[in-house]
Order: sequence, then structure tokens, then C-alpha cells
Amino acid sequence: MKSLINFIKDHGLKVTPQRVAMIKTIKANGHINIDDLYKNIKDEFPAISLATLYKNIIQFIEKGLIREIAIPNHKTQYELKYSEHAHFICKKCNLVRDLKFGDEVELKLNISIENIENISINIYGDCCKNI
Ligand SMILES: [Zn+2]
Ligand SMILES: [Zn+2]
Repeated sequence: MKSLINFIKDHGLKVTPQRVAMIKTIKANGHINIDDLYKNIKDEFPAISLATLYKNIIQFIEKGLIREIAIPNHKTQYELKYSEHAHFICKKCNLVRDLKFGDEVELKLNISIENIENISINIYGDCCKNI
């Protein structure tokens, strides 16, 4: 992936240290909810408010930098939008794991892949059962 600064610029947003820190944190965590993101960012930018963070999250989603993963009964998680993939979500421990199309889940689509803008598939299960 290109540098984080270019990643933000290329999506038409002004580069600010806060935005770079947010994208860096989301990238490092893979999937993260707003509370954990806030905790991380606050270490570096103690003056930042949750409202500012939310505003940036909304802009990131609108401009296509990140996507949200809705998890029933839990906080929405966010991830960088660099590839289309499905998610396995554990109902017990709330773990979110990426599932690439083709390696563990095979999908037969009757429309051309070029016509797909966005794929959102969540597969729910319990990853804690056999531990
Ligand atoms: Zn993911
Ligand atoms: Zn689990």
C-alpha cells in the first residue's frame, strides 16, 4: 500500500496529523471500533474530541478510505477499504476475521465482477467453541 499520506490525499481529503494517526491506527489494528480508536488517538492528541473523531470517520467512509462493519449488539468496527472481502464474526468473543473470496468461501455470482461496487458479507459463528 502507498504511504498513508498519499492514501489520504488520493481520496481527496486534506492531510492532517490527526487523520494520519487515525488511518495508521485503523491499519495497525485491522478492525477497530470508535472507542478503541479514540483511546489510541488520545495518547498522541490529548485535545481531540470524540465528536471530531466521528466527523473524520464519516468523511473517511464518504470518500472511500474505510468501511464500516456492522456487528449486531456490538459497536460498529472500521477497517481500511483496500480489498473486498467477507468477514467472519464470532458471536462470543466479537473477533472479526477477514475471509478472502476464493480461499475459504466460494461465491457464484451471475453478474460481471466489474459491475460490483461493494460487497458486504458477514458470516457469524463461534470461534471459541473448540478451544
Ligand atoms: Zn476486514
Ligand atoms: Zn470467539
